[in-house]
Amino acid sequence: MAAYKNVQLHIDGQWRDARSGKTIEVLNPANEEVVGTVAHAEKADLDEALAAADRGFATWRKVSAYDRAKTMRKAGDLLRSRADEIATLMTLEQGKPLPEAKMEVLAGADVIDWFAEEARRAYGRVIPARAEGVYNLVIKEPVGPVAAFTPWNFPINQVVRKLSAALSTGCSIIVKAPEETPASPAELIRCFVDAGVPAGVIGLVYGVPSEISSYLIPHPVIRKITFTGSTPVGKMLAAMAGQHMKRATMELGGHAPAIVFDDADVGRAAKMLAAAKFRNAGQVCVSPTRFLVQDGAYDQFLETFTAAAAKLKVGDGMAEGTQMGPLANDRRVPSIEALVQDAVGRGAKLGTGGERIGNKGYFYKPTVLSDVPLDARAMNEEPFGPLALINRFTAVDDVIAEANRLPFGLAAYAFTSSAKTAQQVGASVETGMMTINHLGLALPEVPFGGVKDSGYGSEGGSEAIEAYLVTKFVTQAGI
Ligand code: NAD
Repeated sequence: MAAYKNVQLHIDGQWRDARSGKTIEVLNPANEEVVGTVAHAEKADLDEALAAADRGFATWRKVSAYDRAKTMRKAGDLLRSRADEIATLMTLEQGKPLPEAKMEVLAGADVIDWFAEEARRAYGRVIPARAEGVYNLVIKEPVGPVAAFTPWNFPINQVVRKLSAALSTGCSIIVKAPEETPASPAELIRCFVDAGVPAGVIGLVYGVPSEISSYLIPHPVIRKITFTGSTPVGKMLAAMAGQHMKRATMELGGHAPAIVFDDADVGRAAKMLAAAKFRNAGQVCVSPTRFLVQDGAYDQFLETFTAAAAKLKVGDGMAEGTQMGPLANDRRVPSIEALVQDAVGRGAKLGTGGERIGNKGYFYKPTVLSDVPLDARAMNEEPFGPLALINRFTAVDDVIAEANRLPFGLAAYAFTSSAKTAQQVGASVETGMMTINHLGLALPEVPFGGVKDSGYGSEGGSEAIEAYLVTKFVTQAGI
């Protein structure tokens, strides 16, 4: 088994401790034991990272897209070859079952490959001129050094999209990776360093998130910020970015409706949605959360879904056969407990779960609540945990109104065998992403992002490349 490492910063091509020597402890959420430490960057480290990112940008933007892609693909291959070791580190620090961690690492390599190739096609254009001999050129240039802030739920996936988009377009980047799950993102970055990305192009720091963001975002070297996390923090960082006229991508919270119509294959929908709900213990921004089921399908859906939830094997992510690990940190358990208590207190029915497992490790049972009143906190706040809320509806218009009731608009799900209904929900639900009759979100080649309070910008598809480019117009006449 891979030994957990004391994680260092990566600044100006060097792996090193913080100048102050300070570190932060990292816990294994399955047993609450300290597995290692991570270096705690302060202003002196950030100043060095910023100066390096400035130099790194000057170097990297001059490397051709063809050569950048070659280096990136090498990083992707290294990531694949180290997947077992990195997945182990991820499970030790984050808790998810080892096979899920390995899938995340391997999917990260696919993200790198896709961005490396797609950015080779970041074409500009030529606009017909009004005068003879004039060329009107639209040129795409990298936006500049990027500051990226990523959370603990997908320690690699949340970094790799930002890192790949930045590097493929010729930007340098400073990543403020999660202090709670620092080793796996550090190993991701090691793959890029070992593949030959020049010094200064990638910086990696950890510390106090608010101190780092409030120093990096206003700093003149940084030209773009990208954040994944909660809506309240996203709004704060977006405001700061606006104040300093920095481009921003915000991938924030969700509260995804999953609508199941009478005419759907109800058993299939229940099983697929239960698997999606409890993946990563529900700590997923696109996790289906409000299950809205039509009258005729309701009883079968509730029964099948509850049975699937009740039989999930919860345990240490390192143990063979574990299907759901612990929650990732000590804040998640009381947060879910409070939401469940509140909902049950207001009359929701508890189908299964509803309690912690043991008193060591952050384990919580997969939980199903039904007939949940709309004023329950869980029906309004993102649970970000293994909590499914199942309610019934009768009319299509009513379910669309309920889907759109909340300020979130990240992901939505629907199951129906009617083309008309599929078209209607696709057109009417206010969401950045909609998946109908299957689970088809989050591939590198498709857009990934939200509307309303779920943020703006995309972390997938060609839109994700565009976010790291500026458009320059050059018009040129012959002499
Ligand atoms: P939080 O809101 O404090 O933090 C969320 C993330 O933002 C963390 O990674 C944190 O390090 C970072 N962060 C917090 N303050 C910051 C700041 N001032 N500057 C830069 N980064 C900052 O809460 P948490 O307890 O870590 O997570 C709770 C909630 O966050 C969840 O309930 C969920 O709604 C949301 N979240 C969303 C995602 C996602 O994928 N969209 C991931 C993790 C957490």
